[in-house]
Amino acid sequence: MSDTKDTTDKGKTLGLRGGGTETSHVRQSFSHGRTKSVTVERKRKRVVVPKKPGAAGSAGGAAGGRNLSDSELERRMKAVQAAKAVEAERSERMRAEEKAHEEEMARLRAEKEAAEREEREREIARQRKEAEEAERAQAEQAEKARSAERPKAAAKAKTEAIDPATAQAAAARLEAGKTITPAGAKTKAPERTDDDRRGKAGKAGDDRRRSGKLTISQATGEDGRQRSVAAMRRRQEREKRKMMGSNEPREKVVREVRVPEAIIVSELANRMAERVAAVVKALMQMGIMATQNQTIDADTAELIVEEFGHKSVRVSDADVEDVIETAKDSAEDMKPRAPIITIMGHVDHGKTSLLDAIRKTNVVSGEAGGITQHIGAYQITTDSGAKLTFLDTPGHAAFTSMRARGAQVTDIVILVVAADDSVMPQTIEAINHAKAAGVPMIVAINKIDKPGADSNRVRTALLQHEVVVEAMGGDVLDVEVSALTGKGLDTLLENIALQAEVLELKANPDRPAEGAVIEAQLDVGRGPVATVLVQKGTLKRGDIFVVGEQWGKVRALINDQGARVDEAGPSVPVEVLGLNGTPEAGDVLNVVPDEGRAREIADYRAQLAKDKRAAAGAATTLDQLLAKKKADENVVELPILVKADVQGSAEAIVQAMEKVGNDEVRVRVLHSGVGAITESDVTLAEASKAPIIGFNVRANAPARESANQKGVEIRYYSIIYDLVDDVKAAASGLLSNEIREKFIGYAEIRQVFKVSGVGKVAGCVVTEGVARRSAGVRLLRDNVVIHQGKLKTLKRFKDEVKEVQGGQECGMAFENYEDIREGDVIEIFETEEIVRTL
Ligand code: GDP
Repeated sequence: MSDTKDTTDKGKTLGLRGGGTETSHVRQSFSHGRTKSVTVERKRKRVVVPKKPGAAGSAGGAAGGRNLSDSELERRMKAVQAAKAVEAERSERMRAEEKAHEEEMARLRAEKEAAEREEREREIARQRKEAEEAERAQAEQAEKARSAERPKAAAKAKTEAIDPATAQAAAARLEAGKTITPAGAKTKAPERTDDDRRGKAGKAGDDRRRSGKLTISQATGEDGRQRSVAAMRRRQEREKRKMMGSNEPREKVVREVRVPEAIIVSELANRMAERVAAVVKALMQMGIMATQNQTIDADTAELIVEEFGHKSVRVSDADVEDVIETAKDSAEDMKPRAPIITIMGHVDHGKTSLLDAIRKTNVVSGEAGGITQHIGAYQITTDSGAKLTFLDTPGHAAFTSMRARGAQVTDIVILVVAADDSVMPQTIEAINHAKAAGVPMIVAINKIDKPGADSNRVRTALLQHEVVVEAMGGDVLDVEVSALTGKGLDTLLENIALQAEVLELKANPDRPAEGAVIEAQLDVGRGPVATVLVQKGTLKRGDIFVVGEQWGKVRALINDQGARVDEAGPSVPVEVLGLNGTPEAGDVLNVVPDEGRAREIADYRAQLAKDKRAAAGAATTLDQLLAKKKADENVVELPILVKADVQGSAEAIVQAMEKVGNDEVRVRVLHSGVGAITESDVTLAEASKAPIIGFNVRANAPARESANQKGVEIRYYSIIYDLVDDVKAAASGLLSNEIREKFIGYAEIRQVFKVSGVGKVAGCVVTEGVARRSAGVRLLRDNVVIHQGKLKTLKRFKDEVKEVQGGQECGMAFENYEDIREGDVIEIFETEEIVRTL
């Protein structure tokens, strides 16, 4: 069956101006020449023709002048639907009703519109809402119209009537950036245009072009207003686009963009103040497919930054730490602070006693019976009113380890030397530490009360170590004291105060606090507690801080007297509560703006420390293991498994094993533990093809059996040196032999021949050593190596020979190399392999 369209619809256009249907006849042909004419209805788009509101009103009035209630509207809708069902019965009633309805609706809406207009003038927001409602109504209406207009008779319905609902809805759309301009009443072809697509809804040119058409805005008589709203929108849009696109160089703000080693795309966009999408696009143009959450490297980031016309500043990963205020304090902000004193000296020379004595003096003179609290440091006030802060951690180990961690928390060192013992090894060490730190010293010659005390011996002994005390004509203050009796303590304190004055120690108390951890521990009741010696600024309750790899919020501050305080200024030691973990002595505490930053820095430092540890050998994550493996590709590893009788020996073996090896060979302890060798050890060893080393332990029966089956070697040792020697030998076996080169001769090319079948042959004279057929050769031209390879032939006269002695002539040709010239020199060398051991 085939359809042949008999276009009989020509001139059959029914008086349809709005939407509706067109009928045509199609002749269907069947087999045996039978045909049948079928009436086909073609639906046409409805044309909404707006009319002046006044006209609409009169039309409405003609239709009966009554208001159309919702229920009626609904009833009519139903009726229309019914009409649709019985398409054949397209009654006059329906047509009339439709027409009346349209007119009534027009009037109704026109009235509504007028009211709304007034409202709009009062409030734009409300107008929009109304418009939305109208659009909804229009949708209903349109639906109704579609169903109603299908009937042929409905085609007669007059469409001149303005449909203000449509107009209003269109107005709403116009506002929303989407405009419908219905065709004019006289336009035959139904037309629906989206003016926004053309973006010229309100332009005069457009109006001219469509002079025959009536636009909604014209129809509603409020084109100026509508246009202004839409235009305003567009203008806003344009401005927004302009701002976001920022492709206009004249508005470009060139930023300094900090580019760390790796940066997330969105963060890079943020730093440039560019749109993320634009950055992703730019990356794409560079051939990098990256989402906004992906990380790109610094080089790529720099290219992007340049692409956007900004300036890139490479910074290290550590830029998360930048929030920590490092700004230098101006001189006028600096206020005097108490000196921080560390007591050092040889063991048993009385450091602790001296510290206690000093503290006691103060407690007694200050608050009688005050509870002393050892928090790692304390502050005292001398009789003259000077404040001194003592670090309650005697010994140079603490001093140095703190310094090693970056915390220089000592202004003055008190070197305690027992008058009865004089200078001892640790005294010398202390002197060296103090000198290394560049910290001034005050010598306290202690135990002066003792019968054998000889302070001059101490002074003389100190001379040998370049500590020249005042009594010896130097500038180092020295005081004779007795921690036991308290003699000379006052003088010592006054001398310290004097020394401090000379140092002019100052700090700015009005800035975010920075301090050093003196001591830290996990307190059962209070959680992690750290004693912090504030160095700059003032630490306050509620401050958010980062300390080493930890962070926290100051919950409470407790001073050396055990009292809660609200803040601690420079040189004041306080216990800090509110940490999320225990830091280490020597860690620096910094107050940061917010918790997020604190967490970020702490995380970054923790990661850094983890990486460091991993780099030190103990790879912790799989990624690190893989990365390490890659880096170590050229290193041959001898894996071993260690089981020992006690932890101490296991650790000693592991340490010894780490030392075996060089750049090429390394011993890797897969696992080390204490106790008998078990089946699981064997399984692990088998997987890595590692031998098991038992130090003073044996394998249990199942492990022995399993090892036999799997061919895992188990070796027993009871002397660590034997073990190390054996492992060394095994590791040596893994060493690739060293290849050494041995020079054997030189030959000079006198002539170059061309021999068919062989190629270029050099006629040479062996000028030094010998020429050997099997040896390696290098071609030198003006002492520059231009080729290295093997000989293809070595001839003496016509014979192929193995060796040609010095002074003799010979013919030589290179394997796969022809560029030889007269005057070139051939270097002949041999290589030998040397077996190496560790
Ligand atoms: P540290 O190891 O340097 O801390 O020394 P200590 O403070 O523990 O003192 C070691 C010993 O020396 C202790 O028995 C003290 O009682 C004693 N001692 C400390 N200072 C004096 C002192 O000035 N005179 C006397 N006679 N003994 C002292």
